[in-house]
Amino acid sequence: MPVNNPHLKPFIPPQRVLMGPGPSDVPQRILDAMQRPTIGHLDPAFQDMMEQIKSLLRYAFQTENPLTFPVSAPGSAGMEMCFVNLVEPGDKVIACINGVFGGRMLENVKRTGGVPVVVGDEWGKPVTVSKVEQAFRDNPDAKVLAFVHAETSTGAQSDAKSLAALAQKNGVLTIMDCVTSLGGTPVLIDEWGIDAAYSGSQKCLSCTPGLSPVTFSERAIEKVKARKTPVQSWFLDLNLVLGYWQSAGKRTYHHTAPINPLYGLHEALVILSEEGLENAWARHRAMHEKLKAGLKDMGLEFVVEESARLPQLNSIWIPDGVEDASARSTLLTEFNLEIGAGLGALAGKVWRIGLMGHSARQENIDFCLKALRQVLQA
Ligand SMILES: *Cc1c(COP(=O)(O)O)cnc(C)c1O
Repeated sequence: MPVNNPHLKPFIPPQRVLMGPGPSDVPQRILDAMQRPTIGHLDPAFQDMMEQIKSLLRYAFQTENPLTFPVSAPGSAGMEMCFVNLVEPGDKVIACINGVFGGRMLENVKRTGGVPVVVGDEWGKPVTVSKVEQAFRDNPDAKVLAFVHAETSTGAQSDAKSLAALAQKNGVLTIMDCVTSLGGTPVLIDEWGIDAAYSGSQKCLSCTPGLSPVTFSERAIEKVKARKTPVQSWFLDLNLVLGYWQSAGKRTYHHTAPINPLYGLHEALVILSEEGLENAWARHRAMHEKLKAGLKDMGLEFVVEESARLPQLNSIWIPDGVEDASARSTLLTEFNLEIGAGLGALAGKVWRIGLMGHSARQENIDFCLKALRQVLQA
């Protein structure tokens, strides 16, 4: 029997301007790519496209790592893939925490049976390199260093280059979260010597959510192959995934890739390479400067000190007397503008204005400043 429900009809989403912590505005070109016909995931034409995605991702990550591909799940799954493969029970992991996502890394260390050594910094501050140096002195048996490059919960960027250099000096593997930095600020995997990094499709790449680009160095692969215990997750076990993402022609079934979302990621990466990484970084920086000037005119203050500020994620203190939830709700319902709320320790105290990917453009900034001005005046 068909369901006779008059409320059942196609879902037509409202048209929003996305200036929160992700997803960012998705360009029409990407949405067009995603509605093309679905083909089989072992079809040679699809495999060719997967090879192109891998190569385009190597460009985005600035790496030669052969093992660079999108995990068929959101950024959180990329995070989990790094930890379940590279941390064995009993492995000591130095985990840097300066916001929500560092906290999730710690949770991953615990669940993989690793022994965490926490290096904590205040929310809104970058990871303090000298504290990590001290942690290495105190823990010469550490095996992994884990940190978040761009902490989306606060808008602080940490010095990935110095942190990775410390890890190399101490002979440990590095796991880096670059979900919000990839495509927005420099992410130089090979130059910095990062062993494992994961990102997300919906932040500065401006694709739809649900895919997590990852990259692994040879050292990381050796560690996975030398494991004494099996990877606890079947789906995220690199040993098995390798057979699926290895060179076209030899591919074997592991799971069914999300075909149409991958068309979208392909298009997003083509757009990024057309613009050029350096130009994309410069655009995020320039748009941040414009937003900053407008916010300053309104008397709004940044949470993060200038030297560690992420251009693509602008955390500002909510002015006294302004009610967080109702202001954001007015922005959403009357202006169709989404900005981010504060998380964790900063909930109710800050707003997070994203300038990620396609959202980092002049018309969005003008629109956001105008809407904010009206809501704050009301
Ligand atoms: C968004 C984000 C994630 C999680 O990505 P999802 O796609 O939401 O799972 C992880 N780390 C950081 C820094 C993020 O900003």
